[in-house]
Amino acid sequence: MDAPKHSTEITKLIAKLHQAHSFQRQQIADSFQQGLILFTPQLSPRLVNAKVRYVIGETTDTDTLFSQLKLYTQKRSNTEFDLKEWLQECINSPKLKLQETMVWLKDCGEVAVHATTPIQLQAFPILNADQSLESILLHLKDLTLEIQAEAQQRLMNASYAGQFITNAQGLITQPNYAFSAYTGLKPEILETMTYVDWLKKQVTLKVPFGTVMESLLEEGSWSGEVQITASTEAQFYAVLSLSMLMDENRNIEHFIGVLQDITDIHEARSKIEQLAYFDKLTGLANRSLLQNQIEAAIEEITVSQSHAALLLIDLDGFKILNDTLGHMIGDQLLILVAQKLQAVVGSEGLVARLDGDEFAILLKELSQDHYEALQNTLALAHRIQEDLDDRYEISNRSLHCSASIGVHLFAPTLEDNQSDQLIGFANLAMHEAKNLGGNQVHLFENNLCAVAKQRLEMLQALNHSELDDEFQLYFQAQIDQNGKAVAAETLLRWFHPSLGFVPPCDFIPVAEEGRQIIKIGLWVMHKAFLQAKAWNDNQHNIRVSINISPIQFHEQSFVELVIGLVKFTQVNPSHITLELTEGVLIRNTSLALQKIQHLVSLGFHVSIDDFGTGYSSLSYLQRLPLHELKIDQSFIRHIPENPDDVAIVQSILKLAQTKNLSVVAEGVETQDQADFLREQSSELLIQGYLFSKPVPAGVFEERFIQS
Ligand code: C2E
Ligand code: MG
Ligand code: MG
Repeated sequence: MDAPKHSTEITKLIAKLHQAHSFQRQQIADSFQQGLILFTPQLSPRLVNAKVRYVIGETTDTDTLFSQLKLYTQKRSNTEFDLKEWLQECINSPKLKLQETMVWLKDCGEVAVHATTPIQLQAFPILNADQSLESILLHLKDLTLEIQAEAQQRLMNASYAGQFITNAQGLITQPNYAFSAYTGLKPEILETMTYVDWLKKQVTLKVPFGTVMESLLEEGSWSGEVQITASTEAQFYAVLSLSMLMDENRNIEHFIGVLQDITDIHEARSKIEQLAYFDKLTGLANRSLLQNQIEAAIEEITVSQSHAALLLIDLDGFKILNDTLGHMIGDQLLILVAQKLQAVVGSEGLVARLDGDEFAILLKELSQDHYEALQNTLALAHRIQEDLDDRYEISNRSLHCSASIGVHLFAPTLEDNQSDQLIGFANLAMHEAKNLGGNQVHLFENNLCAVAKQRLEMLQALNHSELDDEFQLYFQAQIDQNGKAVAAETLLRWFHPSLGFVPPCDFIPVAEEGRQIIKIGLWVMHKAFLQAKAWNDNQHNIRVSINISPIQFHEQSFVELVIGLVKFTQVNPSHITLELTEGVLIRNTSLALQKIQHLVSLGFHVSIDDFGTGYSSLSYLQRLPLHELKIDQSFIRHIPENPDDVAIVQSILKLAQTKNLSVVAEGVETQDQADFLREQSSELLIQGYLFSKPVPAGVFEERFIQS
């Protein structure tokens, strides 16, 4: 007996059948997974195995067998396949050899089988030693699984998602086209790699590798965002889903992987993030991102027991600069400042722009040692302050700018650790740096909270203040070369029932911020006008100076209100000097100029208070109809010893002389100062503690008018 060489499985089977006793043959054939029928050369069945009997029933009768085995030529056709004829042809073919064909098996009566099962028929001629036909073995091979697998592979290949299936050992045996394309690895290469090899070679996970494996083994699947590096040029973002298929005994059969390219989504998302979390002008982080990062920093320092710090940076005088030179220049300055900050901070921290000219820096993972963390933070803050204090070249201009920096160092245990609150603390420190003159670093201390509380109390008190009960005008004499008081500056005093005496340098900025200064300023003018009228009606000839807040001055109706008060009090405006600060003249210059011209035309004198401390441009002096300059007390304090201050005072006096302006020196405390000033100019008026502190009107009269 000779067997064709085509199928080792069948060849082995034929050899087994050949060697076996006839009673064992049935058993051997029955244990075969696929259908088998052994025919005589006359096509009567010699042996029908269990698989076939399962379909056609228990029969060995030739006719029944052929009629029960319902085979069709096509899946969706009623043309029956004539098995008997086909076998006959096989037998009749000139060279006896293996014949194959595909047919479809349909439901055969009582026994339920698949309605349509693809079957491969193989007819093996078994020959005697003399080459005559001994029997013919029909092998009916169910192709359902193969076809399914092929369909699946086709489906996989049609998918844009990368997919692979591994064998039980984890080797990537079935990658689809897309997977090969994404990874740049051919199926032959992938076949030699386990999916773990591939993960290690090309995949950057966002979670530890162990987490992925744990989830795969415990839950049967894992899915997450990854970055794939197929080559140095081919990098992309994807969602990778891994799952594991196990048999009923929990043996691993396959791992399945699906790779979905999300580069587009990723790009869109980073664009959205860019919009949501970054400042458009400077490209720095914005407030939202800073807040997120602060929250994250709080968690981190809680774990590491280290410190973090927040620096709040505000440019000095930015508003004036922005208002006078325009937003384009302002924006350019902000960009340059942002670049400087980024350069100084580098990767040490996060630089953010909060709004306007306000920047913040978050420093994470500072030392566990409080002192060391503080020193490092302050060192950086000072470096920033020195760096920002510079000239900036913008549109052919060279502008000077500096910054005030508030520093807040925070430790994990503090209960106030909330981003808003932490920003608030740094902000308080920054304001303190401003109050102290700007261009400096100030560290947040708990007492600043108390200061903020006090400010709030003051604001509430100002809202409810009874002007006539709580406020009083004091007057400070201005003395001429003959020692005679020729003028008095009105200085406001506030005696609050519970807050006590509050000095003007404390409450005026608060009242300006809360705009109560408008009401208060009007009250001051009213009282001062009455006082001026009273003194001058009695032929005393005392000029009265009144401080005008910029907020009050910039009110649209300011001039009308002044005119109204003149009519009401009947004061002669030529007995009144209005003290403005340089800042007033910088904002809305043309409007300010109009207002001043109007007031001067009514007879008022206009004085520039604290001269020399404000905006250094003197060009406004040319255009304004001024009467007086008041040299700021900071320049008086150290004369005559300090040559710089001497030079400043001398140049102010010279300027006043050329412009025909009178000069008041304020804050004169010593005879030396007075003597020096007198030497410089005989016409100058002196105001200061040397002659008198500010006093109530009655005291002033006693001291300077009646005597
Ligand atoms: P200012 O207009 O420059 O007033 C001069 C300040 O110097 C006054 O402080 C005065 O008491 C103080 N002073 C005078 N002579 C000496 C001296 O010899 N040595 C020292 N160390 N200081 C001297 P004061 O009264 O505390 O007022 C502070 C500031 O508050 C004023 O500065 C002014 O800007 C503002 N202010 C006061 N009253 C009013 C007001 O009615 N309206 C407005 N808008 N501001 C006012
Ligand atoms: Mg003044
Ligand atoms: Mg002054």
